[in-house]
Amino acid sequence: MKRSGIILAIVLGALSQGGMAKTLNVVASFSVLGDMVQQVGGEHVHVDTLVGPDGDPHTFEPSPQDSVLLSKADVVVVNGLGLEGWLDRLVKASGFKGELVVASAGVKTHTLEEEGKTVTDPHAWNSAANGALYAQNILAGLVKADPQDEAALNASGQAYIAQLTQIDGWAKSRFSAIPVAKRKVLTSHDAFGYFGQAYGVTFLAPQGLSSESEASAAAVGQLIGQIKADGVHTWFMENQLDPRLVKQIASATGAQPGGELYPEALSKSGGVADSYVKMLRHNVEAIAESMK
Ligand SMILES: [Zn+2]
Repeated sequence: MKRSGIILAIVLGALSQGGMAKTLNVVASFSVLGDMVQQVGGEHVHVDTLVGPDGDPHTFEPSPQDSVLLSKADVVVVNGLGLEGWLDRLVKASGFKGELVVASAGVKTHTLEEEGKTVTDPHAWNSAANGALYAQNILAGLVKADPQDEAALNASGQAYIAQLTQIDGWAKSRFSAIPVAKRKVLTSHDAFGYFGQAYGVTFLAPQGLSSESEASAAAVGQLIGQIKADGVHTWFMENQLDPRLVKQIASATGAQPGGELYPEALSKSGGVADSYVKMLRHNVEAIAESMK
């Protein structure tokens, strides 16, 4: 057989063995979801992320290139729960016709009162148990779009889900060893509601559920009083937000800096929180350490 004949035989063999294995083009709305899709999809996905590392998913302004990305996507993965207020218009404008995955589907939501209105908290991924549910939803969406690769997707997806479930158990035991009265910290905005519920930590924050909201002078004064009364002694920066307000409040109360948390954006590649798993571990470790 000539060389070209051998190559043809190999190619035909690969096709008949592997069927129509393909790479899905997936667009994720923000960096946390982008990493989850990569972990679940492995080599079967090419992932583009709209709001990248250190980016704020609440206040994002899509560009025309983002619309082009969506128009070429097989799957789009979003958080839902009102996080991406900018997304519906973008999806419509792009003409996207593929599989839309709402990663938070099925999450037991919790709400907050904000300026007299009941608002759903969108930050559900900050509990690792919810993260496992997100991964389950992403896995189902990828399999629907690429049924030929179901076995491989299930293998990588279930391994990832098991890892997240294990982290959830670790975080629970990490905090249950700390007295409840010490489990209180100050952050910039209300991004840790699900974390607080899952692991028994109280978070205080001057800004509400969206980083777009502004704290009034009266609300800041009230918060300072509450921090003093509750004996909150550590404050944290958030990687995606300007820390000036939380810093001012902290200095008015004597609270000490605990470092940086990653509530809704990964760090840049090579940083301490450049994957969802590393972000969870970092946040749990930094918060628990501050309560010593
Ligand atoms: Zn947020």
